[in-house]
Amino acid sequence: MSSSNSEEKYDLNISFFIFLLAFLVLISASLIYSGITYLQDTSSTTTGMISIGLGLLGLVLAGYNLFRLQGRLSMIGRAPVGPQVLTREKCKSCDYEATRPFKEGDYVYGNGDPCTKCGKNELMLIGAIFLKKPPKK
Ligand SMILES: [Zn+2]
Repeated sequence: MSSSNSEEKYDLNISFFIFLLAFLVLISASLIYSGITYLQDTSSTTTGMISIGLGLLGLVLAGYNLFRLQGRLSMIGRAPVGPQVLTREKCKSCDYEATRPFKEGDYVYGNGDPCTKCGKNELMLIGAIFLKKPPKK
């Protein structure tokens, strides 16, 4: 239970981080935009340059952080590349068979998820739990 909690916290952190980055991009874009309008007014060229400079800095910062975040995310995505544990379940009413990732509490001849096909909301019977090797390149 504690492990799934920390995962949720981690997800929340990432979405908050993305929100901050989006905010940063928004501010940078408006800085650049106002900088350009300043530049058109020849009396405040310096203010325009500073504004555009700050905006570009913000964009670079956001891009850099996004790049790092992407690296972290792809590392998370790469994690389950090893053999995958799968659960095969079969509906007792309509014989519909489904295979899904194994989850805690699954056991052979135990109850699986409700059947999505016949709509009787009956729990399917777990027929097999097996390992699936990753596809070889
Ligand atoms: Zn069914």
